Amino acid sequence: MKVCKFGGSSVADAVQVTKIVDIVLADPDRRIVVVSAPGKRNKLDTKVTDLLISCAGLALAGKAYEPTLNQIVERYAAIQRDLSLPPEIVATIEADLRTRVSGDKSHPGMFLDAMKAAGEDNSAKIVAEAFRVRGAQAVYLNPGEAGMCMTDDFGNAQLLPESYRKLSQSLLRDEIVIFPGFFGYTASGKVATFPRGGSDITGSILAAAVKADVYENFTDVDSVYPVDPRLVPSVKEGIATMTYREMRELSYAGFGVFNDEAVFPAVRAGIPINVRNTNHPDAPGTMIVQSRRVQPGTVVGVASSDGFCSLFVDKYMMNREVGFGRRLLQILEEEHVAWEHMPSGIDNVSVLMRDSRFGKEIEARVIARIKRDLQPDNVMVERGYSLIMLVGEGLIYTVGMCAKAAEALGGAGVNIEMINQGSSEISIMFGVRSEYRAKAVNALYKAFFPHGS
Ligand code: ASP
Repeated sequence: MKVCKFGGSSVADAVQVTKIVDIVLADPDRRIVVVSAPGKRNKLDTKVTDLLISCAGLALAGKAYEPTLNQIVERYAAIQRDLSLPPEIVATIEADLRTRVSGDKSHPGMFLDAMKAAGEDNSAKIVAEAFRVRGAQAVYLNPGEAGMCMTDDFGNAQLLPESYRKLSQSLLRDEIVIFPGFFGYTASGKVATFPRGGSDITGSILAAAVKADVYENFTDVDSVYPVDPRLVPSVKEGIATMTYREMRELSYAGFGVFNDEAVFPAVRAGIPINVRNTNHPDAPGTMIVQSRRVQPGTVVGVASSDGFCSLFVDKYMMNREVGFGRRLLQILEEEHVAWEHMPSGIDNVSVLMRDSRFGKEIEARVIARIKRDLQPDNVMVERGYSLIMLVGEGLIYTVGMCAKAAEALGGAGVNIEMINQGSSEISIMFGVRSEYRAKAVNALYKAFFPHGS
C-alpha cells in the first residue's frame, strides 16, 4: 500500500487536482491521499493558508474580514466550477468557514489553528468530490474521526503516540481515503495544527501507521538535486537514491525540498520515501531508504547553509584543564543556545552556532561570563560563516576524499576556516566565510560530479 501526499502547488487549481486524481487512479496501491491547502497558482498569488491567517487576524482585531473570506471561498469555487463538481460543495465550504470565523476567540492561538486547518480540511473535501465525479470510490476522512490526537500546543502541536493504533485501524478502508494534512484534535476536541508545512508530517505519520510500502511525497520538482540549483544552475541530474542518514545531513545544511523533521515518523518506521513531481508523474523521483548499495568514493550531494557564527575561545594549556569544555557549554546551555559543531585545537575551541540563536545581547552576556569564569587569553565572536557539507555513505573507508575536496576548494581560491568530520564519516563539513559559499559549492560539485551538468 502507498500513502501519497500532495503539497499546496498540487491542489492549487482544477488542472492540478485533475493530475492528483490521474496519478492516484493509475496505481491501485495508492490508497491513502493526504492533501495540503491550495497553494500559489502563480508567483503573485497567495496561499490559502496565508489568506486564512489574515482572515483570522482581522476577525481577532474586530476588523472587516468579509473580503478575505470571500477570496478564500472563491479559491475552492474556481476548482468546483472548472471540474463541474456539484455546487453544494462550495456552500458546505463557505458554511464551514463562517462557523470557524465566528467561533470562540478567547484563546487566539486556538482560534487561529481552527482557521488555519480549514485550508486542508476543505481541500480534502473538494478533492474527494473530484475523485467521485470520476467514478472512483473515495471518501474524505476527518482526522478527529481517524484518531489523530494532538498535544494542545496550538500552532506547534505534536502527535500523541497512542494515535498510531487508532489510525492504523481507521485508515484501512475499501475506498481511497482523502485525508487533510496539517492538523488533528486535542483530547478536549479542539483543532490543533503542526508547524507550517505540517502536511508532510501528516503524510509521514499515516505512512508509519499503516506500515505503507512507500510514502510518496508529491511536490513540484522531478527529484532532489545533489546541489542547490540556485547556486549551480547547470545541475541536471537528480539523486536517484539516498539513505535516511544522507537525507538528514543534506537537509540539515539547507536542502529545502523536504523537511527532515517532518519525515521522522516514516524514517523511524523504516518506510521508504519517494519524492516525486505531480507535474511529471513518470519521473521516478528520489528514493530515500534505510540502506543502499554505495560505490566507495562517491558523494550524494553538496549542501550549504548561511547564517552561522563562531564563538572562539583561546587559552594556553586548555587541553590540561579538566572540565573546561563542560563549563563553556554550560554557559551556552544556561542561555538556551543550541550549538552545531565544535572544531578545536589544543589551546582553542570554536563553537559554531546559528546566528539567529545568538543575538547581540546573549553574546554580551556569554562573553562576560566566559571572561569571568574561564579566564581565557582571548574570546571573540565572528559572524558571517557558511557551512558547506559534502555528504555521502561513499565517503566511508575511502582514502583521499578530504584531500580531493580541499584541493577543489583551494583551486577555487576558497579559504577553509574550519573542518569537521564526524566519526560516522558520512559527511565532511567545511566552515568558510559566507562570501565564498557559492564558489565553494560550485568547486566541490565540479570535483565530485564531473558528469553532473
Ligand atoms: N498549508 C500549510 C502551510 O502552508 C501546511 C502545508 O501546506 O503543509 O504551511
